[in-house]
Formats: sequence, C-alpha cells, structure tokens
Amino acid sequence: MHGPSSACKPVPVERGYTWRILLLGAPGVGKGTQAQLLTEQLGACHLSTGDVFRAAGKNTDCDQSPAMRAALEFMRRGELVPDTTVWEMVRERRQCILHCNGFILDGFPRTLAQAGLLRKWMEEESLSLSAVVNYELPVEEIIRRLSGRRTCSQCKSVFHVTERPPKIANVCDCCGSALYQRDDDVPQSINVRLEAYQSSTAPLIQFYNDLGVLVRVDAQGSPDEILARTLARLEARCGNWA
Ligand code: AMP
Repeated sequence: MHGPSSACKPVPVERGYTWRILLLGAPGVGKGTQAQLLTEQLGACHLSTGDVFRAAGKNTDCDQSPAMRAALEFMRRGELVPDTTVWEMVRERRQCILHCNGFILDGFPRTLAQAGLLRKWMEEESLSLSAVVNYELPVEEIIRRLSGRRTCSQCKSVFHVTERPPKIANVCDCCGSALYQRDDDVPQSINVRLEAYQSSTAPLIQFYNDLGVLVRVDAQGSPDEILARTLARLEARCGNWA
C-alpha cells in the first residue's frame, strides 16, 4: 500500500493513561483541528487517514503502489476510498496505533465495513474503545466552513478566508508556508463528500451508540471552546485522567 512514513512523528511521550478515541462527524466539522488539540492534551497518537492520503499524493519520493494511486483519484473526486485500501493503510500504521498513550483516529472508520474491521482487530488485540466523539454541526455551517477553508501546505494548520483569515493573505501564521485550497474543498467535491457522509458514515453514529461508547459534542464555536466541551464530555465518561 505505502504512503508517507508509517511511524508516528513526533513520537508521543508516555503519560500513563491509554486513550482509544474515534472522531466522527461530517467533513468540515473541525475533526482535524480537534484531533491536533486533543493529541497535545492527551498525548495519544493521532492518525488521520485523509492526511496520509494527501501526503502520499504530494510526496513524489514515497513509493506509491497502484492501490494508493487509485485511492488518490477517489479522494480527488470527493468519493470514499475503497474499504480494503483504507484498512491496509491503517494496518501499516499498527505500531503507531498501539502506542502506550493510545490513539485518536480522525476520519476512520467511515463505513460500517471499516468499523467492523476495526472492532474485530481490537478484539483480537484485547483493546477497547474509550469513546467515540461525534461532532455535530448544521449543514449550512458545514458548507460555509469547507468552501472558505485554507490549509497550510506544511504544518496543516487550518484557516478560513473570513472567519479565521491569516495575518498575511495565503501565508500560514504558524510556519510561514503557503496556504492552499484542498482539491476536495471545491463545491462539486463538497457535495459528493456530504452525500458520501450521509449514506456511508452517518450510520456509524447508531452503531457506536448501540455499543454505548458514543459522546455527542456541539461543534459550533471556537476551536478552544469545542476542545473544552470535548474534554468535559470525555471526563464525564472516562473519569479524571490528569
Ligand atoms: P478527510 O481529510 O478525512 O476529509 O479525508 C479526505 C478524503 O480522503 C476523503 O474524502 C476520502 O476520499 C479519503 N478518505 C479519508 N479517510 C477515509 C476513510 N476512512 N474511508 C474512505 N475514504 C477516506
């Protein structure tokens, strides 16, 4: 399968508490931003399947298998990558997922088939989920966020043309690299992604609710407000870990 390095960078420092968290929510709800903030707070390993595919698409040095090249075409159109390809890519990062502080999976699973594969693997490894966080946002707000989103080509910080503009147009405040609009943040792909979310990913909410691990979080407000809400919900579910 291959993509960019499957090692977790930077390697998180051991904190003595193991988190196993999945982040759910439509494209544009802010899962990536929350995943980064939660990773800083909790020290778990962060794996974003979308980030791995994007990095593989940009990195001409890395070995792109035919399956990865096909996956990049699905992604460019806003469609979901086939389950077998995604699962292979996640399994290649097994070492990272098994890190002692646990994991935060962002953008995976996205179908019931992927959720089934993850569940079976976790059972085999005798692992259980701490929580599945579902970020909730009205669809008009999702479209507004996605169409104005600009992403840093290097550090992946996220800006918005009107809500969170960079200090200098098209330049990242954090590292000074160029900002870009993701190929799949254009209107045609946004529609395809939202349809894929409704038909394939939204059923996961019921799936994880039935397993008793679902935590619902309102995704309106600033990243820090959403983070505080998420941490409060995690503490209510898992107890105080600090
Ligand atoms: P994201 O950055 O999570 O919005 O993902 C960007 C794109 O990568 C998606 O629109 C899909 O084409 C692909 N992708 C990422 N994760 C998955 C997944 N778990 N299953 C299928 N496709 C995925």
